[in-house]
Parts: sequence; structure tokens; C-alpha cells
Amino acid sequence: LVNCQSLSKSFGAQVLFNDINLVVSEGDRIGIVGPNGSGKSTLLKIICGLEEQDSGEVLLKKHARLSYLAQADLFDDSRSISENLLASLHAEELEESEKFNLVLTILSRAEFEDPETPVGRLSGGWRKRLAICRALLVAPDVLVMDEPTNHLDIEGILWLEKMLSGRSGGLETFLLVSHDRHFLENCTNRVVELSSVYPEGLFQVKGNYSRFLQERDHFLAGQLR
Ligand code: ATP
Ligand code: MG
Repeated sequence: LVNCQSLSKSFGAQVLFNDINLVVSEGDRIGIVGPNGSGKSTLLKIICGLEEQDSGEVLLKKHARLSYLAQADLFDDSRSISENLLASLHAEELEESEKFNLVLTILSRAEFEDPETPVGRLSGGWRKRLAICRALLVAPDVLVMDEPTNHLDIEGILWLEKMLSGRSGGLETFLLVSHDRHFLENCTNRVVELSSVYPEGLFQVKGNYSRFLQERDHFLAGQLR
């Protein structure tokens, strides 16, 4: 669905990554880890066309729909939950009533009590839930999420895991950045790391997070020898 070929990005003299290759196929549940400031958010933005790479290409399968959950959301605080979600469906070719039903369905699956509450009155965690709902609303082929568990409590994380598990009509293909190892263990089937420690800029492992940690330790031990 997504094929990143030899992506490189620097800001001035700061090289974030160099020659990154990453393929997202149907059913991939990929986690990206890496230290603060290593370029994870920038990589997601480049994949979603929100930031430009210095070189390399992002190839998308024809008609593939990407949905992006930013690290910080942009809601209109003064308007209600449902109005904010409806606004994100403006480009969809659907009847107003269909849009409204989609919004109400996702809100009830996320256990929002009152769709008329102004977004500015939501707590940080519920705001994050709403941002996740917005990303899910357009039924994307690939869901791209930047730190989706931030601000979520244990129940919120369990809810997110359920939404991502493929059961209950959830999504099956995603690429996400997270610092939460339990979440990564539960939700991903492949983890990659962005870090200046690796000369090629991306440490690739086929396997879940525990496997990632083992192989990474092994790799680093080899480097130190
Ligand atoms: P975190 O884990 O803290 O979210 P991150 O891995 O997502 O970090 P990025 O947000 O991608 O990191 O930023 C990587 C580096 O690029 C940072 O040092 C940041 O200051 C720098 N950077 C990001 N955007 C810009 C920009 N528009 N102009 C200049 N520098 C930028
Ligand atoms: Mg980030």
C-alpha cells in the first residue's frame, strides 16, 4: 500500500534520517520507536504528504486512503464533538444524514456520552479519543498515527487496542509511533527503530516488540565488540 524508497531528511545541518526504506503492506501493523527528536513525526508527515523529503520517494497504491493522527490535534474548541467530526467529512460524497450516522456510530463505539459537548470542555484523554475517532471515520486503508496512546488512561488504551485489533470492524493496516512498550507488544506485528545509532537510519526487524528488543540488543552488542 505504501512504499518508501530511500527517504532522506535533514533540517539544516541536522540529519534526521538517511536512505530509509519502508514498505507497508495490507495487514501490516507496524510500530516505529526511537528517541525524542529522532524524526519519527517528520517521517510520518512525509509519508502523509504533509512535509517534503529531501530525496527519495513515497509511492502509494492507486486509490489507497491514508488517515493521519497528528501528535497534537487541531479541533475547533468552541464547537461540539459532532460538529468537529462532521467537518472532517466535508470532502466525502455522502448524504448529510449518512455522515451524521457515521459520526454517531463511531462516537458510541468510543463511549462518548454527549455529542453536543464542546470539544474545549473535554479532558486530554477524551480529546485524544476524539482525534482517534476522527482518524477512523474515513475508513482508511492505512492508518498513520503519531503517539495514539498519549493522554489515554488504561481503559482508553484497551479501547484503542480493540479498535485496532481487526475485530469489531476495526482496522488492520497501520503504521504508528509509540513509546509504550506494552501497547507495541499487544498491537504491532513489526517494529522498526529510527535512531542515529544505525548507519542506515532504520533498524528493521520482522517480529513483535520483544523480538525487536532482543535483536536490537544483539545488534548493539555486535557494534560494541
Ligand atoms: P518526539 O518523540 O519528541 O515526538 P520525533 O522523533 O517525533 O520526537 P520530530 O518531531 O520528527 O521528532 O523532530 C525531529 C527533529 O527535527 C527535532 O530536532 C525537531 O526540532 C526538528 N524539526 C522538526 N520539524 C522542524 C521544522 N519544521 N524546522 C526545523 N526543524 C524541525
Ligand atoms: Mg514526534
